[in-house]
Amino acid sequence: MHSDPRKQRFETGILQQRLRRQVGRAIADFNMVEQGDRVMVCLSGGKDSYTLLDLLLRLRERAPVDFDLVAVHLDQKQPGYPPDVMARYLDSLGIEHHIIEQDTYSVVKRVIPEGNTMCGLCSRLRRGILYTFASEHGMTKIALGHHRDDIVETLFLNMFFGAKLKAMPPKLLSDDGRHVVIRPLAYSTEAEIAQYAEARGFPIIPCNLCGSQEHLQRGKIKSMLADWDRQFPGRVENVFRSLQSVVPSHLADTNLFGFRDLGARAEGDAPDERAWFLPERTVSAD
Ligand code: SF4
Repeated sequence: MHSDPRKQRFETGILQQRLRRQVGRAIADFNMVEQGDRVMVCLSGGKDSYTLLDLLLRLRERAPVDFDLVAVHLDQKQPGYPPDVMARYLDSLGIEHHIIEQDTYSVVKRVIPEGNTMCGLCSRLRRGILYTFASEHGMTKIALGHHRDDIVETLFLNMFFGAKLKAMPPKLLSDDGRHVVIRPLAYSTEAEIAQYAEARGFPIIPCNLCGSQEHLQRGKIKSMLADWDRQFPGRVENVFRSLQSVVPSHLADTNLFGFRDLGARAEGDAPDERAWFLPERTVSAD
């Protein structure tokens, strides 16, 4: 935090510009928002979703397409939840907004044994409520505040514990095919989002009011990635970029690539670039 307010305002302006550009690029790359969309922005009360809504509101002013932004927050009836904080913030924005009240806290407490993490069930219940709300209110997109670091953490969680090469996509069709979920912060880092949220003074409502521990494994992956990035700056960014540059012929999924049909070419045959193409900067282990 700077003691010189002018300098701080200037730096926040630069940061805002950078984040806005990243969000704009993610929206364009994945065609996240289209003419006439009704985008439901899910506000948890944390730094990420406040930042997302703030940036989307700014981007909409200059967007080449018309779309609605509807802010939606779920009051899960956790003990100590401050009921006025979100309501006051949303009122100040002057946009359509809704606060849904549903006591998922009691359900989770009842179902999960004492001492176990409640986040898995809590998130599933929250998702169900928000998806239902989106259907009932004509939302065409659901915007979530996940960022680049969430995506990379999820990749490693799925690899380490699920044996799957799978992350968290910037744009997703829900399993029932009824909702399109978008993650416009996919190109932004958690550190910059945290810095922006602090500078903007968003009224943060902590997620752990319920007393649940943070997802233990995710916490470990987070610190593993932080260590890597300290030792080798840029590594996490490279992991993320690798998700945008996948070479199926150099993995080992027989459903993804026709390894079985792969054979040497007879002289004069056109080269099969699918099989032998190696991008210049790919490091080969052989
Ligand atoms: S910390 Fe509490 S409110 Fe947040 S996801 Fe976990 S169980 Fe739900």
